[in-house]
Amino acid sequence: MNEHLTESDISAWVMGDRSNTHVTECAECRIEVAAMEAALLEFRASAHELAAGQTPVVRVAEPRPWWPQLALAAAAVALLLAIPAWQRAERERVAKQEAADTALLRQVDAEVSRAVPGPMEPLVSLVSWDGSNTQ
Ligand SMILES: [Zn+2]
Repeated sequence: MNEHLTESDISAWVMGDRSNTHVTECAECRIEVAAMEAALLEFRASAHELAAGQTPVVRVAEPRPWWPQLALAAAAVALLLAIPAWQRAERERVAKQEAADTALLRQVDAEVSRAVPGPMEPLVSLVSWDGSNTQ
């Protein structure tokens, strides 16, 4: 078995020079040759794409814009600042509702505790509650 192919032997084989028969006997060198052929095919495809005016296969990722993150942070800060004001407004609303409920309950209590309905109150003075006549 001969020595393995040098780089120039591999290049010559890939370019079509088949005089060195070591490749047919050595799997290791066949792998080297196949890798070189694959790289050349890839280069050829890229060159054809560039020639056709297409964008190259390798793309550099565009930098992400910074302003969405800034807007998100500003929204979070605004939310944090708004929470105490909302809590204060909620406490005031609850206090007002409690005051209105208390006033309504007092009114209902006053209405219920009347001996007779309001329109009949002037008649109360004409009636004796102990059964005797006031006249
Ligand atoms: Zn070899």
